[in-house]
Amino acid sequence: MDKKLLGIDLGGTTVKFAILTETGEIQQKWSIETNILDDGSHIVPDIIDSINHHLSLYDMKPEQFMGIGMGTPGSVDVEAGTVIGAYNLNWTTLQQVKSEIEKGTKIKFSIDNDANVAALGERWKGAGDNEPDVVFMTLGTGVGGGIVMNGQLLHGIAGCAGEIGHVTVDPNGFECTCGKRGCLETVASATGVVRVARQLAEEYAGGSKLKARLDNGEDITSKDVFELAEVDGDDLALMVVDKVTFYLGLACGNIGNTLNPSSIIIGGGVSAAGEFLRSRVENYFKEFTFPQVRESTKIKLAELGNEAGVIGAASLAK
Ligand SMILES: [Zn+2]
Repeated sequence: MDKKLLGIDLGGTTVKFAILTETGEIQQKWSIETNILDDGSHIVPDIIDSINHHLSLYDMKPEQFMGIGMGTPGSVDVEAGTVIGAYNLNWTTLQQVKSEIEKGTKIKFSIDNDANVAALGERWKGAGDNEPDVVFMTLGTGVGGGIVMNGQLLHGIAGCAGEIGHVTVDPNGFECTCGKRGCLETVASATGVVRVARQLAEEYAGGSKLKARLDNGEDITSKDVFELAEVDGDDLALMVVDKVTFYLGLACGNIGNTLNPSSIIIGGGVSAAGEFLRSRVENYFKEFTFPQVRESTKIKLAELGNEAGVIGAASLAK
């Protein structure tokens, strides 16, 4: 009988689980709330209980599983199966995730960071078409990324490969949480888009709904900016979108020139702006790439939405 895969997407508010076939079809899925109280000490025991509860519910045995894979925030030691510095989970000290989950479930366990795992998911069952060379970037609260080359995730010497959010796109730009300036994350995350809007609004003199709303002290989201640009043709909002997509196209261009993947996939909340965003990033990407890359590397939108995490996590178990 074919073995199953169990994928887990651990986030700051929910833990998502899915049981998949070896070919990546989701057969069961469920989720629990993430209890981050008491230094996040309930998280791993809750995960173990939930797995064991659902296996008995579905009348399944640990031997039927090829393994469990999990995506997590924080810094991951893939070999040791440990996590540290996942501040939205209150995990500030080293967490022995792999050894505890293997002990508690009797199933082999693999772990990687959430952006890497989402990259695996999009590459396997989403926009990546299961090609060997795919780059994924997620534009959310921050900007994360994952790089798959020759079918393998790249980790780098310190586990930092694929940290596309810290690619410098403006040497004199905004300060980043990492300590340097002008990182892609400072201008292309959900908060980054709003930051660019505020900066451009200061110098902007013409009529604009976006400017009026910012001047009124209203809360503006990146979604508002993209909607005002696309639906209303708001002049300032269009300038913001142009600047953000310039930065994204610059980063994608340099990734393309360096790695020449078959696709660079854009996901995360900001990518809900869809083709309006993608086509503009692609235009700048073409400006910043040399001909062979321009013609072979495609800029695509993510297809799996929030299932990329569990699907990619499950693929870790293969
Ligand atoms: Zn940075």
